[in-house]
Amino acid sequence: MVPDSICIIGAGVFGLSTAIALAKRYPNVKVTVVDRFEPPVQDATSVDTTRCLRVDYKDPVYAKLAKESLEIIKADPDISPFFHQTGMSFVYDGGNDKWADIWINGKISAEKSNSDTPGMMKYYDSPEEVYKSIHTVAKTPTVSHPTWLKGYTNYSNGFIDAERSVKAYYERAKKLPSVNFVFKPVEQLLFASGTNTAEGVLFGDGSLLKADLVIVAAGAWSCKLVDLEGVCFSSAIEVAWFKVTPEEEEQWKNMAITTNLSTGINLFPPYNGEIKCLRRSPGYRNTQAVPHPDPAKDESISISYPRTIIDHPADWIPQDAEDALRHNLAEIMPPLAERPFDRTKLCWLTQTPSANFIIDHHPALQNVVLATGGSAHAWKFVPILGDKVVDLLEDKLDPVLKDMWSYAEKLRPTTDNGSAPRMDGQPQELVSVVRNKPVN
Ligand SMILES: Cc1cc2nc3c(=O)[nH]c(=O)nc-3n(C[C@H](O)[C@H](O)[C@H](O)COP(=O)(O)OP(=O)(O)OC[C@H]3O[C@@H](n4cnc5c(N)ncnc54)[C@H](O)[C@@H]3O)c2cc1C
Repeated sequence: MVPDSICIIGAGVFGLSTAIALAKRYPNVKVTVVDRFEPPVQDATSVDTTRCLRVDYKDPVYAKLAKESLEIIKADPDISPFFHQTGMSFVYDGGNDKWADIWINGKISAEKSNSDTPGMMKYYDSPEEVYKSIHTVAKTPTVSHPTWLKGYTNYSNGFIDAERSVKAYYERAKKLPSVNFVFKPVEQLLFASGTNTAEGVLFGDGSLLKADLVIVAAGAWSCKLVDLEGVCFSSAIEVAWFKVTPEEEEQWKNMAITTNLSTGINLFPPYNGEIKCLRRSPGYRNTQAVPHPDPAKDESISISYPRTIIDHPADWIPQDAEDALRHNLAEIMPPLAERPFDRTKLCWLTQTPSANFIIDHHPALQNVVLATGGSAHAWKFVPILGDKVVDLLEDKLDPVLKDMWSYAEKLRPTTDNGSAPRMDGQPQELVSVVRNKPVN
């Protein structure tokens, strides 16, 4: 059932997509999107120079949805100019482990989606060929244990300018008569006295917004607004940018986004005079005690909560993150291995145990729906996420998706489905390793 008034907390891809989908199907429902800041919100997970749009998923359900989403983006005149079909290369170290499994299944999925266009695929069987795919000339690696050994490129994939696209989706939502925006932080959900029935939200400045339904789409921040123990965990991974010269831009202009599954590094082609790299590391946590979000519980809980460039602009990625990025670059991108970073950030995300999103009613709270748990791979689904949330409200969500994105699925014994795999290990406590930008 879709009620008369809905408050969406968060104007990232989940929140904006939901607002647009609601307005399309229910133009008389009053939708208010609230965010800490006006989009594109600089520290939101959805906002960055680039996000990959790929169809190479081991899981056929995500593979199909990713292809559908990519087609919608490519046909959207407001968004398609921000998509750059550079291709994506996936490489691994030739071992016989879970990375090999993800690589092989990603390759099969890519081949399937390109069955009519096999020319979109290219394959590399040696470190020399992988190196050549970036630099146009082959070079034998000088490191003792090469990790860039075997790869393929799917030229259907590419990257999107995530910041400019989020702005475009925001502008689209703003034009919809039933959608309003409010920019101030929500302090907590508002409950009818003595109950667990949400009636809206309470802002940090003491003001209220009443609504029949609250959709929590606050990404990595969601865990402070609702109890997500065991369901979602917020952590951050390292991202860094290098300035490159016009000559280097020319030299690398045809490289694909290049990912080494075995070492977790993601390397983007030059864009606006920069090369971005990131590592899907075990990451960093920022443990805080906060009041229990459940109105019935008068206690505090311990959560990992974003610490970002907005409140800590001088933060720089930890030393071990820098070392790991440079170690990778020494093998595949030697000219950048010693170059100072232009800027860095820790990008926060919220991860579920299975890497499946959560689009479900909160099991313990009335009138609260969750649309989060992006698990480092949700951006590409922006054209369809909102429709799935509205399907849930109408009780028409496809049964496979309903189960996959349910709260209950997150509590079942499960393993990461490999949709956006991260390196093994536990996140480090950020406060122990954080540092300011080093003085050169
Ligand atoms: C480094 C990195 C790389 C990634 N790469 C890819 C990729 O290549 N392809 C891909 O598909 N996906 C990728 N992802 C994942 C994708 O970016 C996320 O899954 C997606 O952007 C999450 O969107 P969201 O709407 O849940 O969160 P967000 O975009 O973070 O939006 C949440 C919003 O809620 C607001 N908010 C929070 N708390 C409050 C409050 N109390 N009051 C008001 N507002 C609040 C925030 O300000 C924010 O704007 C990547 C993620 C990371 C971290």
